[in-house]
Amino acid sequence: MEPYHNYPVLEIHLDGIYHNSKAVVDMCREKNIQVTGVVKGTDSYENSYLQIAKQMLNAGCSSIGDSRINTIKRMREAGMNAPVLLIRIPMPCELEDVITYTDISLNSEIENIKTLNQIALQKNKNHKVILMMDLGDLREGYIKEEELIRDALFIEKELKNITLYGIGTNLGCFGSIKPDTTNLNRLVTIADKISSAIGRKLDIVSGGATSTLPLVLDGTIPEGINHLRVGEGIANARDLQDIWGLDLPMFCRDNYTIKAQVIEVKEKPSYPIGEIFVDAFGNTPDYIDKGQRKRALIALGKRDVGDIFNVLPKIKGATVEGGSSDHLILDVTDCEADIVLGDIIEFEACYGAMIHSTYSSSVTKIYV
Ligand SMILES: *Cc1c(COP(=O)(O)O)cnc(C)c1O
Repeated sequence: MEPYHNYPVLEIHLDGIYHNSKAVVDMCREKNIQVTGVVKGTDSYENSYLQIAKQMLNAGCSSIGDSRINTIKRMREAGMNAPVLLIRIPMPCELEDVITYTDISLNSEIENIKTLNQIALQKNKNHKVILMMDLGDLREGYIKEEELIRDALFIEKELKNITLYGIGTNLGCFGSIKPDTTNLNRLVTIADKISSAIGRKLDIVSGGATSTLPLVLDGTIPEGINHLRVGEGIANARDLQDIWGLDLPMFCRDNYTIKAQVIEVKEKPSYPIGEIFVDAFGNTPDYIDKGQRKRALIALGKRDVGDIFNVLPKIKGATVEGGSSDHLILDVTDCEADIVLGDIIEFEACYGAMIHSTYSSSVTKIYV
C-alpha cells in the first residue's frame, strides 16, 4: 500500500518533465527554433510552477510561458528570474502587472500596447511584445495582415519603451485548425514584410504550440519560424501520440499519475433501474445493459479531474463507466486482480485531468 493518507494523490514525475523538455528543445534546436516552456497546465498550491519551470529551464527552454498574472506573480515571488512570456492577451486591468512581472507578452490590441508603453516609461522599463496574427483558428490575433503591419510599424517608430520583438500565431485551439506549411509560410511572409519595412530582422517568429511539433519532427516546418511555445508536449506528451497518431518513444507519457481509493465494491446491474431521467449534471447518457457487473466505486470525481473520462485506469480490464462530482464508477469485472475496498487505483491523466487536478485543492500533489 502507498504511504499516503490524503487521496486522491497526483504524482508529478519531474524527471519525465525534464526528459521531455530536453527532447523538445533538442529537436527544435536542430531547426534553429527556441522553445518557451509553457506551465499553464500544471498549477498547484505547492508551487509546482517553480519545480516544473526549473526542469524546463535546465533542459534549455529560453523562457517560461504562462497565461495568468496571479500565477506568474507567485512564480516571481518564489524566486523565478528567467524571462517570462505572458501567453494570453492581457486584460486592460492588469497592464501594470504585465510590466512588473513579465518580460514579453503576446498582444493584438494597440490600445493595450500604448498603455503598456506609458507604464513602462513611468517605471523606466522596457517590455517586449509579440503581435499575434490569426491565421484562421479564430481565437486571438489580427485577422487583417495590413492592420498588424501598420501597428508593428507604429510600435517600432513611436513607442520608445516597447520593443517590437516579433510576431506569432496560435492554431488548433478554437477553430481546430492544423498548423501546416501553408499557414505558417504566411506568417513567415508577414514577418519578412515587417523586417524589410523596419530595416532589421524581427527576433521572433512564433509558430504555435505543441500542435506545431509534428512539422518539426517531419522536417517540414518552414524556415523562418524560430520560436514555439510548448506546454502539453513537454508536461504530459500524450496528444501527439493519442490524437496525431505519431509514434514518439522518446517522450515520457506518464508524468502525471492520479491515485485514488476504492470506497465500495459490489455486484450491480449495469442498466439503471427505474425511469431514466437526468444525471447530476442534467444530462442523460446512454446506458448499455451488460448484465450484472462487479463495480468499484472510486473516491475521485469531476471536482478533481474535470470530465471523468479525462483519466485512464492503469489496471488491465478496468473501464470507466462514468461518474459525478465526487465519484468515479469503475467496472472491474474483467480485471485479473481482485479489487477490494481500500485498494488504490492508478490512473493516467489526460490534458484536462492534468489541468483540473493540479489546480484542485482537494487533490494532494506529490513531486517524485
Ligand atoms: C496554451 C497555449 C500554448 C501552449 O499550448 P500547448 O498545446 O500546451 O503546447 C501556447 N500558446 C498559447 C497562446 C496558448 O494559449
